[in-house]
Amino acid sequence: RFLTLEGVDGAGKSTHASWIAQALRDQGLTVLETREPGGTPLGERLRDCLLSESMSLETETLLMFAARSEHLRQVIEPALAAGTWVLCDRFTDATYAYQGGGRELGQARIAALEQWVHPHLQPDLTWLFDVPLEVARARRSGAREPDRFEREQDAFFERTRAVYLARADEAPGRIRRIDATQSIEAIREVLAGQLRALTQ
Ligand code: C5P
Repeated sequence: RFLTLEGVDGAGKSTHASWIAQALRDQGLTVLETREPGGTPLGERLRDCLLSESMSLETETLLMFAARSEHLRQVIEPALAAGTWVLCDRFTDATYAYQGGGRELGQARIAALEQWVHPHLQPDLTWLFDVPLEVARARRSGAREPDRFEREQDAFFERTRAVYLARADEAPGRIRRIDATQSIEAIREVLAGQLRALTQ
């Protein structure tokens, strides 16, 4: 199974990633935790470029998919083929939300790249950790130095979040919206219930 975690920066998804992986391992499953952009040596170098260099929106989007293509061929597809569960922190939904929505590239060119890079693969389940802007901002302000995406303005985050929510509405079977304003314990309870359904 292929599971992904999504949400705007500050929604708290990374807090839940290792907990989800451990919950699956406790059920005897083999789990690979990975992230995007990144997940391979080349992908991590592309991530460094993406987070630190300024570049055109087109270049940014192409590098996201270049890193993703590498990640899919080298890591994700072989793992899934071997029966390993893959838990990935961000995937193509993030490109729709950030580059498509936040940066206003629109959806069509991302859909074309998706069609090229992974026409037949979609996550089996995606958790969308959703919080309003103010909550995300408050959580981010206490964290590490912001990267260049995290320094974006409020309107950027609103557009990003709006695309995430629209995608969740369009694919309710795959994308589960989690109200991430709840406590960590309450969120874990929701996740635990969904994980049970998934592994039965
Ligand atoms: O989720 P994580 O914090 O590792 O993401 C790193 C940065 O890359 C974030 O600031 C996120 O906003 C940005 N990003 C992006 N477009 C993507 C994926 C991540 O702008 N498709």
